[in-house]
Amino acid sequence: ENYKEGLSKTRTSFSSKINDLVAKYRKVDEDFFEDLEEILISADVGVSTVMELIDELKMEVKRRNIKETKEVKEVISEKLVDIYYGEDSEELEKLTYADQGLTVMLFVGVNGVGKTTTIGKVAHKLKQSGKKVVLAAGDTFRAGAIEQLEAWGERVGVEVVKNNAGSDPASVIFDGIQAAKSRQADVLLCDTAGRLQNKVNLMNELSKVKRVIEREIPGAPHEVLLVLDATTGQNAMSQAKTFSDATNVTGIVLTKLDGTAKGGIVLRIRNELHLPVKFVGLGEKLSDLETFNAQAFVYGLFA
Ligand code: GDP
Repeated sequence: ENYKEGLSKTRTSFSSKINDLVAKYRKVDEDFFEDLEEILISADVGVSTVMELIDELKMEVKRRNIKETKEVKEVISEKLVDIYYGEDSEELEKLTYADQGLTVMLFVGVNGVGKTTTIGKVAHKLKQSGKKVVLAAGDTFRAGAIEQLEAWGERVGVEVVKNNAGSDPASVIFDGIQAAKSRQADVLLCDTAGRLQNKVNLMNELSKVKRVIEREIPGAPHEVLLVLDATTGQNAMSQAKTFSDATNVTGIVLTKLDGTAKGGIVLRIRNELHLPVKFVGLGEKLSDLETFNAQAFVYGLFA
């Protein structure tokens, strides 16, 4: 249900264009595929992903001997799901936890993408599933970031470990680990700074934070989740490249899908960056976060 509502902008735009296309052409031909290509590109699916998809579609249409465009619609959604999964399994979308003891998840991403909000939402989700959660306010750089995380902590009812603004993020994360251990928490969610103006500083800061985590808990961080804003298209793609260079990103959280008609970016991230989308943000409320499910997503586009 959340999917249907959150994707309404993309769905309205996407399915109405597809329906217009089907009505316009009736018979499957080269022009039909060309127009379809444009629709997919305008939904931010990404050029190389679209090319791959069109090739697959053409083969499938030939194989099944499909002549009418209205029959192609179903094949499109099948192929969209296929292309999302690629050679990997559904396992990839699941979060990784420590075999025993504390699980540490690091959240990275530039300011304004919805990182703090996402940490609040994930804390809420984990708490609801019975896990004890602690937050570490590792964004000591952005004004108000610590207070904002504290407000989420209060709303969700989880402890927030913090230090003063401007203090060393790695030491805040260290304190967070000690606190989480002594409270016998299950999961520590770590916020980090998101300034991208100085790439070298960012990389140094992230690697220092990671070193501290690795030293304190072998095998951690169990997840490094990169938060990206779905409304920013190409920018999100280049941020993903920058952060992947700086640190070992294990998955994506794609926020603000409710605010864009270009939800196709989910497929593009998966197919071009080979990173699983672990969560999608579908609104501003605590409950507006869903674990990603390609099937539900693609069917949400056509429903
Ligand atoms: P940060 O700077 O990355 O920590 O970003 P914030 O968490 O402060 O979020 C920036 C803005 O985006 C806030 O107004 C949030 O309410 C909003 N936001 C975050 N996630 C979503 C989402 O999934 N959908 C919508 N519509 N807004 C979101």
